[in-house]
Amino acid sequence: MKYRKLILLSVLVLLAATPLVVLLRKDASIPADADADQKGIALPILMYHHIIKNPAKQNKYAISPEEFEADIKYIKEQGYTSVTIRDLVDFCEKKTPLPEKPIMITFDDGHDSFRVYALPVLEKYETKAVFSVVGEFAEEYSKEGVPADVSYAYSNWEQLAALSRSPYVELANHTFYMHKTSGRNGCAMVAGESVSQYEQVLTEDLNLLEQHFASKLDGYQSLCFTYPFGAKSEQTLPIVQKLGFKATLGCYERLNYLTGDPKELYDLRRYNRPHNVNIADFLAKMK
Ligand SMILES: [Zn+2]
Repeated sequence: MKYRKLILLSVLVLLAATPLVVLLRKDASIPADADADQKGIALPILMYHHIIKNPAKQNKYAISPEEFEADIKYIKEQGYTSVTIRDLVDFCEKKTPLPEKPIMITFDDGHDSFRVYALPVLEKYETKAVFSVVGEFAEEYSKEGVPADVSYAYSNWEQLAALSRSPYVELANHTFYMHKTSGRNGCAMVAGESVSQYEQVLTEDLNLLEQHFASKLDGYQSLCFTYPFGAKSEQTLPIVQKLGFKATLGCYERLNYLTGDPKELYDLRRYNRPHNVNIADFLAKMK
């Protein structure tokens, strides 16, 4: 009896210990840096919208000109090098190496404050940025006689053409008429809409902005589509890919990890940079 109990106990102990042994072996066989290699190159992407001098108007989506310059200065001091979507596409398609500490600066919506306040800073610190344009807003401010103060105006086609020639600016498509939440949430599908209806609406809208870019910006073609408000449906990405966009920008706040697979350029994650945060803390918290 005693002997049989002992055997049973030994078997139980062995069984209980097995998963632990397997786990320990598995861990021991992984080199310390393998996980980092597998994850790829970390790419933080900062999302800005508007730059405004009036402190009363500074908020989650509008920062001061001084804050922006301090950000870019700090980023440079920390050894980051800015990249654009073109750089990411070349990394995936041509194996062009990325800089050691890549970072991406993005501005959404086409506020003319980007041209007035951000561009001189980008030139001064030799930093590149992605500027996502809404066709409807550019069209509105291209009309004759429309007042355009930098505190509220959007860049018109002529100003966008000048931006498209800058080595520090890459333009992206942020829809023509879909930057609104009434009726449809940005470019997401609406209830009751069929996939083919949705495909037609989205295709026409995105192509309309590409046609304006081509005719007004000397043949410019976007590589990237930026989801208004980060809103999308399951069907959005396949349509955007079909239209030839090589990357999309979302609003999910996480770091990106790139290994060179072109699929990783879709739904890139970004951190919105609000007014009144310490840039060092803000960058350190990204994960
Ligand atoms: Zn937007």
